[in-house]
Amino acid sequence: MLKLTNEVRRAICEAGERDYPDETCGFILGRLQDDDGGRVGDGVRAVANAREPEEAHHRFKIEPEDFLRAEREAARAGKDIVGIYHSHPDHPAAPSDYDLDHAWPVYSYVIVAVERGRARELASWRLEDDRSRFANEPVGTAGQAGEQAGEQAGET
Ligand SMILES: [Zn+2]
Repeated sequence: MLKLTNEVRRAICEAGERDYPDETCGFILGRLQDDDGGRVGDGVRAVANAREPEEAHHRFKIEPEDFLRAEREAARAGKDIVGIYHSHPDHPAAPSDYDLDHAWPVYSYVIVAVERGRARELASWRLEDDRSRFANEPVGTAGQAGEQAGEQAGET
Protein backbone atom coordinates (compact mmCIF):
# COMPACT_ATOMS: atom_id res chain seq x y z
CA MET A 1 0.00 0.00 0.00
CA LEU A 2 1.21 3.44 -0.95
CA LYS A 3 -0.43 6.23 0.99
CA LEU A 4 -0.33 9.67 -0.59
CA THR A 5 -1.34 12.92 1.02
CA ASN A 6 -4.02 14.83 -0.88
CA GLU A 7 -1.41 17.50 -1.67
CA VAL A 8 0.87 14.96 -3.30
CA ARG A 9 -1.96 13.44 -5.32
CA ARG A 10 -3.02 16.89 -6.47
CA ALA A 11 0.55 17.91 -7.33
CA ILE A 12 1.03 14.82 -9.51
CA CYS A 13 -2.27 15.39 -11.34
CA GLU A 14 -1.49 19.07 -11.88
CA ALA A 15 1.99 18.28 -13.19
CA GLY A 16 0.50 15.81 -15.66
CA GLU A 17 -1.98 18.40 -16.89
CA ARG A 18 0.64 21.14 -17.06
CA ASP A 19 3.06 19.11 -19.18
CA TYR A 20 0.40 17.53 -21.43
CA PRO A 21 0.80 16.38 -24.21
CA ASP A 22 4.30 15.49 -22.96
CA GLU A 23 4.97 13.14 -20.08
CA THR A 24 5.70 14.77 -16.77
CA CYS A 25 7.96 13.11 -14.20
CA GLY A 26 9.35 13.53 -10.73
CA PHE A 27 10.05 11.95 -7.38
CA ILE A 28 7.75 11.14 -4.51
CA LEU A 29 9.38 11.72 -1.14
CA GLY A 30 8.25 10.32 2.16
CA ARG A 31 8.81 7.26 4.29
CA LEU A 32 9.43 3.76 2.98
CA GLN A 33 8.14 2.23 6.21
CA ASP A 34 5.13 3.49 8.05
CA ASP A 35 4.08 2.19 11.47
CA ASP A 36 1.71 -0.32 9.89
CA GLY A 37 4.11 -1.38 7.16
CA GLY A 38 2.80 0.86 4.39
CA ARG A 39 4.74 3.54 2.64
CA VAL A 40 3.84 7.18 2.73
CA GLY A 41 4.39 9.83 0.07
CA ASP A 42 4.10 13.32 1.54
CA GLY A 43 6.24 15.36 -0.83
CA VAL A 44 7.05 15.67 -4.51
CA ARG A 45 9.97 16.98 -6.46
CA ALA A 46 9.34 17.65 -10.12
CA VAL A 47 12.20 17.08 -12.55
CA ALA A 48 12.53 17.93 -16.20
CA ASN A 49 11.76 15.13 -18.62
CA ALA A 50 15.16 14.52 -20.18
CA ARG A 51 13.81 12.73 -23.24
CA GLU A 52 14.32 14.44 -26.59
CA PRO A 53 11.25 16.54 -27.49
CA GLU A 54 9.96 14.18 -30.19
CA GLU A 55 9.92 11.29 -27.69
CA ALA A 56 8.62 13.12 -24.61
CA HIS A 57 4.96 12.43 -25.38
CA HIS A 58 5.39 8.72 -24.63
CA ARG A 59 8.68 8.39 -22.76
CA PHE A 60 10.31 9.96 -19.76
CA LYS A 61 13.85 9.95 -18.53
CA ILE A 62 15.39 11.22 -15.33
CA GLU A 63 19.04 12.26 -15.42
CA PRO A 64 21.37 10.73 -12.80
CA GLU A 65 22.18 14.23 -11.49
CA ASP A 66 18.49 14.81 -10.80
CA PHE A 67 18.40 11.50 -8.95
CA LEU A 68 21.34 12.50 -6.77
CA ARG A 69 19.90 15.93 -6.08
CA ALA A 70 16.55 14.43 -5.06
CA GLU A 71 18.28 11.92 -2.82
CA ARG A 72 20.26 14.64 -1.07
CA GLU A 73 17.19 16.81 -0.70
CA ALA A 74 15.22 13.90 0.75
CA ALA A 75 18.01 13.06 3.17
CA ARG A 76 18.21 16.66 4.35
CA ALA A 77 14.48 16.60 5.05
CA GLY A 78 14.80 13.26 6.86
CA LYS A 79 12.84 11.50 4.10
CA ASP A 80 13.34 8.73 1.58
CA ILE A 81 12.63 8.66 -2.12
CA VAL A 82 9.64 6.32 -2.09
CA GLY A 83 8.75 6.48 -5.74
CA ILE A 84 8.78 8.05 -9.14
CA TYR A 85 5.73 9.47 -10.81
CA HIS A 86 5.07 10.12 -14.46
CA SER A 87 2.10 10.73 -16.70
CA HIS A 88 0.63 8.84 -19.63
CA PRO A 89 -0.87 11.39 -22.01
CA ASP A 90 -3.92 9.78 -23.62
CA HIS A 91 -2.97 6.32 -22.38
CA PRO A 92 -4.13 4.24 -19.40
CA ALA A 93 -2.29 4.42 -16.05
CA ALA A 94 -0.58 1.08 -16.70
CA PRO A 95 3.17 0.70 -17.19
CA SER A 96 4.57 0.30 -20.70
CA ASP A 97 7.31 -2.13 -21.75
CA TYR A 98 9.64 0.87 -21.74
CA ASP A 99 8.67 1.54 -18.11
CA LEU A 100 9.38 -2.08 -17.22
CA ASP A 101 12.81 -1.96 -18.86
CA HIS A 102 13.75 1.18 -16.96
CA ALA A 103 12.32 0.44 -13.52
CA TRP A 104 14.19 -0.20 -10.30
CA PRO A 105 13.08 -2.43 -7.48
CA VAL A 106 11.99 -0.83 -4.19
CA TYR A 107 10.34 2.26 -5.70
CA SER A 108 6.66 2.81 -6.25
CA TYR A 109 5.90 3.84 -9.82
CA VAL A 110 2.92 6.14 -9.83
CA ILE A 111 1.32 6.78 -13.20
CA VAL A 112 -1.38 9.32 -13.85
CA ALA A 113 -3.40 8.99 -17.03
CA VAL A 114 -4.03 12.39 -18.60
CA GLU A 115 -6.85 12.34 -21.10
CA ARG A 116 -7.05 15.30 -23.45
CA GLY A 117 -5.32 17.47 -20.87
CA ARG A 118 -7.30 16.27 -17.84
CA ALA A 119 -5.82 14.02 -15.15
CA ARG A 120 -7.98 10.92 -14.74
CA GLU A 121 -6.86 7.65 -13.22
CA LEU A 122 -3.87 7.37 -10.89
CA ALA A 123 -2.27 4.01 -10.15
CA SER A 124 0.89 2.73 -8.49
CA TRP A 125 3.07 -0.18 -9.56
CA ARG A 126 5.93 -2.10 -7.99
CA LEU A 127 8.46 -4.21 -9.83
CA GLU A 128 8.28 -7.89 -8.89
CA ASP A 129 11.44 -9.37 -7.35
CA ASP A 130 12.44 -11.14 -10.56
CA ARG A 131 11.85 -7.88 -12.50
CA SER A 132 9.68 -9.71 -15.02
CA ARG A 133 6.62 -7.54 -14.50
CA PHE A 134 4.89 -4.92 -12.41
CA ALA A 135 2.36 -5.66 -9.71
CA ASN A 136 -0.36 -3.16 -8.95
CA GLU A 137 0.09 -1.45 -5.59
CA PRO A 138 -3.05 -0.12 -3.91
CA VAL A 139 -3.04 3.64 -3.34
CA GLY A 140 -4.56 5.07 -0.20
CA THR A 141 -4.74 8.46 1.40
CA ALA A 142 -2.25 9.50 4.04
CA GLY A 143 -3.72 11.57 6.84
CA GLN A 144 -2.24 14.91 7.78
CA ALA A 145 -0.34 15.21 11.03
CA GLY A 146 -2.63 14.22 13.88
CA GLU A 147 -5.20 12.58 11.63
CA GLN A 148 -5.90 8.91 11.30
CA ALA A 149 -3.65 7.67 8.50
CA GLY A 150 -5.13 5.32 5.97
CA GLU A 151 -8.68 6.22 6.86
CA GLN A 152 -9.66 6.59 3.22
CA ALA A 153 -7.56 3.70 2.02
CA GLY A 154 -8.83 2.22 -1.18
CA GLU A 155 -10.18 5.44 -2.57
CA THR A 156 -9.08 5.86 -6.17
ZN1 LIG B 1 5.14 5.14 -18.73
